[in-house]
Amino acid sequence: MAKAIAEQVEETGVIICGGGPTGTVLSALLGSMNVPNVVLEKEKDITTDPRGIALDEDGIRILQSIGIYDRIYTEIGTCTLSMIITGEMY
Ligand SMILES: Cc1cc2nc3c(=O)[nH]c(=O)nc-3n(C[C@H](O)[C@H](O)[C@H](O)COP(=O)(O)OP(=O)(O)OC[C@H]3O[C@@H](n4cnc5c(N)ncnc54)[C@H](O)[C@@H]3O)c2cc1C
Repeated sequence: MAKAIAEQVEETGVIICGGGPTGTVLSALLGSMNVPNVVLEKEKDITTDPRGIALDEDGIRILQSIGIYDRIYTEIGTCTLSMIITGEMY
């Protein structure tokens, strides 16, 4: 019994609570520095209501730093020259 439990125990350097953008990016950054980590997410399913309508320059730099920006840009998003949010031009 103890052996069976021991075989299920996973060792890690960092436990990240929450698999939102902050937790998943932190996990990727730690992984890129060879720091073992595990993300614990309480929800079983991915949220389907859109929460990534726009990505600013800091967001782009973070995605570039973990090497996934090109895929995000080509497979998910497109570049817009301007957008209107709450009546303001950005
Ligand atoms: C409708 C909507 C539209 C948005 N649109 C944009 C947008 O266009 N551009 C933009 O940049 N931002 C947008 N945002 C904001 C963006 O979603 C948040 O800034 C971002 O999700 C914050 O990320 P986070 O990882 O810090 O927190 P969260 O996304 O809240 O992630 C936290 C995670 O931790 C999990 N969790 C919590 N407690 C526990 C626990 N005890 N154990 C395990 N897991 C736990 C939660 O289930 C969740 O998955 C939008 C938000 C909303 C609601």
